[in-house]
Amino acid sequence: MVMAYDYDLFVIGAGSGGVRASRIAATHGARVGICEDYRVGGTCVIRGCVPKKLLMYGSKFAHEFEDAAGFGWTVPTPTHSWATLRDNVNKEVDRLNAVYLRLLDGAGVKLHMGRGRLMDRHTIQVGDETITAEKILIATGGHPVIPSIPGCELAITSSDAFHLPELPKHITIVGAGYIAVEFAGIFNGLGAKVDLVLRRDRVLRGFDEECRTFVHEALKESGIRMRTETEIGRIVAKGADGKSGPFEVHTPLGGMFETDCVMYATGRAPNTSGIGLEKAGVQLNKAGAIAVDEWSKTTADNIWAVGDVTDRINLTPVALMEGHCFADTEFGKKPRKANHHDVPSAVFCQPEMANVGLTEEQARLQLGELRIYTAAFRPMKYTISGRHQRTFMKLIVEAATDRVVGIHMVGDDAAELIQGLAVAMKAGATKAHFDATVGIHPTAGEEFVTMR
Ligand code: NDP
Repeated sequence: MVMAYDYDLFVIGAGSGGVRASRIAATHGARVGICEDYRVGGTCVIRGCVPKKLLMYGSKFAHEFEDAAGFGWTVPTPTHSWATLRDNVNKEVDRLNAVYLRLLDGAGVKLHMGRGRLMDRHTIQVGDETITAEKILIATGGHPVIPSIPGCELAITSSDAFHLPELPKHITIVGAGYIAVEFAGIFNGLGAKVDLVLRRDRVLRGFDEECRTFVHEALKESGIRMRTETEIGRIVAKGADGKSGPFEVHTPLGGMFETDCVMYATGRAPNTSGIGLEKAGVQLNKAGAIAVDEWSKTTADNIWAVGDVTDRINLTPVALMEGHCFADTEFGKKPRKANHHDVPSAVFCQPEMANVGLTEEQARLQLGELRIYTAAFRPMKYTISGRHQRTFMKLIVEAATDRVVGIHMVGDDAAELIQGLAVAMKAGATKAHFDATVGIHPTAGEEFVTMR
């Protein structure tokens, strides 16, 4: 006897991966429900990529005003309203939230507001509702992690940064990954004094070493104070209520400095607790993420997981790919696995960095002889504006095959440029293909086809 379930698919978590999977499954004819306990759109739309990039645009006007002078413009001393920027960004988030709701509705996906909790392999509790589904997808994302030190509850995370009542005059950001360097650039551009506290000698561990160094020096040059090889041992609030700033930041070796706000950007962890995984036989891997196979299937036969909760590559477009592949495979009769090779990515620090493929260090470990091509130059715009900002580009080529295996850039519009080059790499481009390509003049991008 075939059991009658409420849904063919029920998705827990309406972020990038969950929404994409549910919509595609519904368009393939499945009866789909989804639950969300906060706002539809997930980290990317509500408290991540989208509002962060809007804040970045806002902060970059500071450079534009400065650069304008060399081109003959007289700009009166610009002033900035944090409240205007913050409120406009949050209005845009509201608009996108509504768009996502309409998309779900338009695809025929039924939204259940509330936290989803697995009761067994086919049953989900959402608030007072008990829902059954033949297949279940977990897409609950991740959350910021703050090291447990005395006073850590006084610190904010990037999620809070979008709602600050005022722009801090002096912010201290802890961490050296994507979020830390992006927000350092944002607050620096908006006029705050910024200290970046990092436990290593340079930012962005895991990226190409030369690019890391280039970004690190550029951040320093932009006025961000880099407190390298430093950790925070204790935070003390000096405000009258014992909770508000200014804050004393104490290092374990007895150092101390004052700041108006401490923001932690020390990584994120998968949202796996409180969703009943154990009741459904869904197991975690050693890193504490949901263990999945190449089809995103968990250890339970009818349950899949996509996005940050699986901690594979924690990027929105990867979650979208994983969700889409799952829906096509299970409901569209088009089986396809998510391909995690050569995923391009960008860090929207200032100047921004983007890359696809291997770092030089990875290529040296994995491949034989390499040919490395680099270019470092002052962008044309800054020859007149006088800005001390340079661009760096790097191509990594496998000598035996002439294949381009890594493309890296630090500089304006790096993300826009690398997106196109990622297609070339996916198509198996060789250095000879790059050499045979005519440049567009005058652009920064033409450097990629003229490196010899
Ligand atoms: P990351 O994992 O990128 O970086 C974490 C940083 O925190 C590292 O510099 C790490 O240092 C440091 N750190 C960890 N623990 C401590 C500690 N106890 N004390 C001091 N420093 C510590 O995390 P993020 O929070 O920056 O970003 C989370 C995820 O979000 C990333 O995986 C990324 O994929 C995604 N993201 C993507 C963006 C984009 O595509 N543009 C933008 C923002 C986020 P160390 O290197 O020494 O370990």
